[in-house]
Amino acid sequence: MIKKIQIDDIVLLLSPDNKTFMVNIKEGKSFSSHLGMLDLTQAIGKSWGETIQSNLGNEFILMEPTVEDKLMKVRRLTQIVYPKDAALIIFKTGIRSGMKVIETGVGSGALTIALANSVAPEGKIYSYEKREEFIKNAADNIRYAGLIDYVEFFNRDARDGFDQTDVDVAIIDLPSPWYGIPSAYESLRGGGRIASISPTYNQVERSVQCMEDTGFVNIETLELILRNYQVKQGKTRPRDRMVGHTGFLTFARKAIAS
Ligand code: SAH
Repeated sequence: MIKKIQIDDIVLLLSPDNKTFMVNIKEGKSFSSHLGMLDLTQAIGKSWGETIQSNLGNEFILMEPTVEDKLMKVRRLTQIVYPKDAALIIFKTGIRSGMKVIETGVGSGALTIALANSVAPEGKIYSYEKREEFIKNAADNIRYAGLIDYVEFFNRDARDGFDQTDVDVAIIDLPSPWYGIPSAYESLRGGGRIASISPTYNQVERSVQCMEDTGFVNIETLELILRNYQVKQGKTRPRDRMVGHTGFLTFARKAIAS
């Protein structure tokens, strides 16, 4: 049976000029866009791909948001992890449904959305962040994305350690990753993976040194460069704007000394 859109569903509205807006469908709620006011009640009972109209007669298409859409629509109070990096982190650390994953810091919760989406419905993300106001904003973002049930927050400095043991994966996105690496080692199970995200060379060098000293093995650092294209008949070329740099990713595994 094809699902019909219901109250509380999260919908991505696609405007005639190709802009997207993520909205939560509620009875009687309206959304004000650059192309007129939309009464969201119109969406209830419709199928994905159908349209609703603004009061100015513009048609918006009802799309199902992907995890990438949800991640990119967060309210940003910090730098975020981009989809290209989140996707590779999940693939290389082997995160899947049912796993226990520690993450620090939470920031705006963008990466948390991708992680929670991958461990649901059986697993959990244990998210450590030292600034309470960031946890609040991240929780709002994650709730809006429909993934709050798979995340538990801890308002704590990564240096003070994590409560969980035998976790499968630990993700470090800190300005000082070496504050989180020893704590991650303590909480990981043998063979568990760590991934660290850092924008600068000096952070990477110190992180790798710290991982070696702590007992991590199979250490690998890489950068993923993504270029988007504009495709038009006879005029196809790279887009002239791009995100030139996000961060370096370092991956490793926990070995247990004999
Ligand atoms: N991955 C996040 C962005 C994290 S930004 C996202 O995709 O949205 C880095 C975060 O680490 C900030 O929120 C900062 O407050 C937090 N942080 C910095 N030092 C910390 C520490 N020692 N312990 C815990 N969190 C810390």
